[in-house]
Amino acid sequence: MAEHESLEFGKADFVLLDNVSMEEFMANLKLRFEKGRIYTYIGEVVVSVNPYRAMNIYGRDTVEQYKGRELYERPPHLFAIADAAYKAMKRRNKDTCIVISGESGAGKTEASKYIMQYIAAITNPNQRAEVERVKNMLLKSNCVLEAFGNAKTNRNDNSSRFGKYMDINFDFKGDPIGGHISNYLLEKSRVIFQQEGERSFHSFYQLLRGAPDSLLRSLHIQKDPAAYNYIKVGGHIKSCINDGADFKAVADAMKVIGFTGDEIQTVYKILAAILHLGNLTFGVDGDVTLIENTKLVSVLRELLSTKEENVEKALLYRTVATGRDVIEKQHTEQEASYGRDALAKAMYERLFCWIVGRINDIIEVKNYDARVHGKNTVIGVLDIYGFEIFQNNSFEQFCINYCNEKLQQLFIQLVLKQEQEEYQREGIPWKHIDYFNNQIIVDLVEQQHKGIFSVLDEACMNVGKVTDEVFLQGLNGKLAKHAHYTSRKLSPTDKNLEFDRDFRIRHYAGDVINLLPFHADLLCWSLTPVAVDLLFMFLLCASSSNTVLKAMWPEGKLSITEVTKRPLTAATLFKNSMISLVENLACKEPYYVRCIKPNDVKSPLLFEIERCRHQVEYLGLLENVRVRRAGFAYRQTYPRFLQRYKMISEFTWPNHDLPSDREAVKKLMQGCGFDHDAAYGKTKVFIRTPRTLFSLEEQRAEMV
Ligand code: ADP
Ligand code: MG
Repeated sequence: MAEHESLEFGKADFVLLDNVSMEEFMANLKLRFEKGRIYTYIGEVVVSVNPYRAMNIYGRDTVEQYKGRELYERPPHLFAIADAAYKAMKRRNKDTCIVISGESGAGKTEASKYIMQYIAAITNPNQRAEVERVKNMLLKSNCVLEAFGNAKTNRNDNSSRFGKYMDINFDFKGDPIGGHISNYLLEKSRVIFQQEGERSFHSFYQLLRGAPDSLLRSLHIQKDPAAYNYIKVGGHIKSCINDGADFKAVADAMKVIGFTGDEIQTVYKILAAILHLGNLTFGVDGDVTLIENTKLVSVLRELLSTKEENVEKALLYRTVATGRDVIEKQHTEQEASYGRDALAKAMYERLFCWIVGRINDIIEVKNYDARVHGKNTVIGVLDIYGFEIFQNNSFEQFCINYCNEKLQQLFIQLVLKQEQEEYQREGIPWKHIDYFNNQIIVDLVEQQHKGIFSVLDEACMNVGKVTDEVFLQGLNGKLAKHAHYTSRKLSPTDKNLEFDRDFRIRHYAGDVINLLPFHADLLCWSLTPVAVDLLFMFLLCASSSNTVLKAMWPEGKLSITEVTKRPLTAATLFKNSMISLVENLACKEPYYVRCIKPNDVKSPLLFEIERCRHQVEYLGLLENVRVRRAGFAYRQTYPRFLQRYKMISEFTWPNHDLPSDREAVKKLMQGCGFDHDAAYGKTKVFIRTPRTLFSLEEQRAEMV
């Protein structure tokens, strides 16, 4: 139990609830939120509720309180988890990771930043210049990534539109010496379209509002976002975001990190090119498709350092590879608009990935000789989208939810494994724990030959012939018997489903109806990179004389037939990236932060109970408490246990004369009548039910 916290603030750890019921869980969560206690434990998991107000709990003094302390000695806090991960890494030479999950706006990114700040604050006591430099870069990289990867949405003014995993490497002294960032599934559709009330990525508005006039002139860009089709929806939004100031902050951060002047200029050129692309319109003359605003073609040519005919060709033709032959086909007007948007999205995605890659080049560990200094250890921080269940769930939600199934599976494996290992280490018999294993849902999505991804891939092989109907038939054929899959054809009475339109996956977090057209998504996600835009880029960017731009399109070195050979679909790429992420996490010691969003109006006062209950459900928190309690709710090393409770027993107060602390604790527990509820490991006492712990706490309170 956390010291300095009385029960007036509710229970600091959910395992201490009298009964593990949704009602009690919610009551405790609400009470703590209302008392300004935004963090609560489930064992070593931190549950966090977004306070939506500045909290005075992240300062230097708080850092000092948590530094080097054990988890339960202070009130629950992110810093305690960060410290635990850091200690495990430093003392036991373990790679660790902190997995942060929750829905959009729940506070994941803020949490990841506080964790990084904490680690920065407690390391490098000797102020070594090189370490300070690395720390500075790691912190600065956030600013750049947020400019290009975040946007204002209706749910969050600074919403990350990509998943992020960041490794921080430490040397044998425990000081940061480098890092590596992996990014997942950037929401590139935002480049060309935003919902009412939302904006495109911050970077566009920053450029328009913050760039000096001379730069804007050279990019042929005007200040008013309303002049650009791709961003005009969000252009008028008044928000507390200061794009002008952010432009300078980001430019400075890029310089500090080490981007060259040419690189930064190219970044601006690409942003400008995308804005211009959005204003291109097409028309037809007879059976010829043409670009109406030819002036823009020359602007694009200039920005992309290429030839005008390449721009035209890229926009008006598609290149299809059939066997060995490469055929050029003219677009229809509609195909041309579609291709233009695909080009804009792909350019932005490449730009983003290139920025991440450049940051990685610069922050990667250099000059570290493991033979001299020992293994360098890692703390990974994962900030990734949580479950999404909307009215309309597209391919994007499908991927995100699959990602969460993978992470849940990992959670089950690791948390149970960790428990099991601890019992083994301590010599306590392992008791089987019953829990829902979601592996079956993971298989539903990713299994070879049978899973949804593989049906999707098959569909992608038949360019042009696949309809939603065919795709759905494929799924129905392979998955009819799967307990977590259904469609209207398989459940004819289910009026929530429609023929030929959708299918339902029973996720561990709840049912999600995945709406077709996957077909349009098939085009967006799978086929386009090959059939349409990749070859555009091939033509457009391979011919660019701008070396930075060229570097973003490494396929430029290949021939057209090589590029089109057996491409991996976007679905497969995503699946592979998830599998490698999970493999990477699985070999680390995990710590978890589960974020909850208390309301949809960003209010610091409102705890919408239904809204929160839903999140508690799909984060699987009750199950988490049960798993934790099915074993032992509480464990503590003997000396620390005595330190806290020795005053309640005549055998141990003020000191004991037994041969070991273990014997002393045993005697204390027997004296209080709690012996039946405890197990005595090699170094720790384990207590099964929280009630016992309460009694101990009460007795202690009477004595002190
Ligand atoms: P997510 O990454 O989960 O989508 P963010 O971390 O961006 O959510 O948080 C959304 C907003 O909520 C932040 O911009 C901030 O205003 C507020 N917020 C989140 N966590 C905290 C916190 N610990 N203290 C104060 N405000 C917070
Ligand atoms: Mg975020």
